Amino acid sequence: MSTLQLYNTLTRKKEVFEPIHPPHVGLYVCGPTVYGDPHLGHARPSITFDLLFRYLQYLGYKVRYVRNITDVGHLENDADAGEDKIAKKARLEALEPMEVAQRYANRYHDAMRSLNVLPPSIEPHASGHIIEQIALVEDIMAHGFAYEVNGSVYFDVEAYSKANSYGKLSGRVLEDLMANTRTLDGQSDKRNPADFALWKKAAPEHIMRWPSPWGDGFPGWHLECSAMSTKYLGETFDIHGGGMDLIFPHHECEIAQSVAASGHDAVKRWMHNNMITINGQKMGKSLGNFITLEELFAGTHQLLAQAYSPMTIRFFILQAHYRSTLDFSNEALQAAEKGLQRVTSAQKTLQQLKPSEKSSVDVTRFIQDCRKGLDDDLNTALVLAAIAEWVKTVNSVKDGSEQLSAADLKLLQADFKVVVNDILGLQAEPVAGHGNDLTGGLMNLILQLRSQAKTSKDFATSDAIRNQLQAMGVVVKDTKNGAEWSIE
Ligand code: ZN
Repeated sequence: MSTLQLYNTLTRKKEVFEPIHPPHVGLYVCGPTVYGDPHLGHARPSITFDLLFRYLQYLGYKVRYVRNITDVGHLENDADAGEDKIAKKARLEALEPMEVAQRYANRYHDAMRSLNVLPPSIEPHASGHIIEQIALVEDIMAHGFAYEVNGSVYFDVEAYSKANSYGKLSGRVLEDLMANTRTLDGQSDKRNPADFALWKKAAPEHIMRWPSPWGDGFPGWHLECSAMSTKYLGETFDIHGGGMDLIFPHHECEIAQSVAASGHDAVKRWMHNNMITINGQKMGKSLGNFITLEELFAGTHQLLAQAYSPMTIRFFILQAHYRSTLDFSNEALQAAEKGLQRVTSAQKTLQQLKPSEKSSVDVTRFIQDCRKGLDDDLNTALVLAAIAEWVKTVNSVKDGSEQLSAADLKLLQADFKVVVNDILGLQAEPVAGHGNDLTGGLMNLILQLRSQAKTSKDFATSDAIRNQLQAMGVVVKDTKNGAEWSIE
């Protein structure tokens, strides 16, 4: 019996997680569009579902994690007309469209590596699955849920709604959708404003185009995820995830497409992460608060007081439960930076502690407390609170007010590694200086030179070293065991 509870957006409640075909788990997450730099908005879904991927594997499941790359160049705002986003970028930067897609896919991968997000098991590209998408459109048409007009194919929401519930995921009501969806007067081929494109005819100037039974065109935005999830995970699979902003129309339409083609739901459980706001505002290019991950790591955006390391961003995101809102501010990130430092330095301390005869604390509680949080719909806020309590315990053992036996010390070291490094994916920053990385090695060398200067009573040099390090934010403290250093 599984103890893991996960919230299902479809049923609007937490449910015990049981895979359809244990020990296998099929997980599909909507990946990035590749016509721009990866930004802060990409970090939350990738870290949320990376945590799920890691935790399911810790629990012993064999997870097939599929995360797609959207590279077929959809139209601006999913409109009926206009230039596609990749072709527009290609024209502006004088590149081949696939060069644009590759460039931004590479940057996305670089950012994910920095954030210690594991690569998925399969990363299918929409452009490599045009045949599957056309077959799906034909299937939907054969069941009477789509129609062709002038080389484009639309999903017939009204026909579908006779026996199925369009809007069940998002809670939207079809009548309202029909009344509220704006039509482009005379420009739309749709029978009904709520209908959505499965296949779009390509205008002569449209670069990203493929032949189809309806003429040259390109797939609708929602089609690729239905086609590729079925191809790699089967007609029914365990979990489909993504950001909350994808619930409507993207995921609602995915459900409709799958049900129209196969007669049943493809997804057993829908999971959605909440959004990141910036100083209380939604992130948007027009608001001037659009921050790319590269700017965040380098501290080069005007809203940033400093650079924030990828691990600080990861810690910051894990501090909130994935379904809660998360507000980004310099203060919140600086607090996250300190929180992360406390955890990594406690982990370092844990490696150096001397065991006692007996333990004064029950170390088996550590993993229990952490798992309790994770089992509660991946409540990382609870997990980090539990870790913070144990950081205090580790420091108490260091100052002698608590004791750990050799066996318990070994167990706590191992469990810390499992939770902090393996499940939460937090790594010690290179600058934290564990002695086995370049910064640590260089710092040891500098402190040795300073110690030699002091021994030979060259206080001018030893003070200069300390002051210049201080100016760079590196604080040197002289203790009875020698000099220790930390980042301010
Ligand atoms: Zn998708």
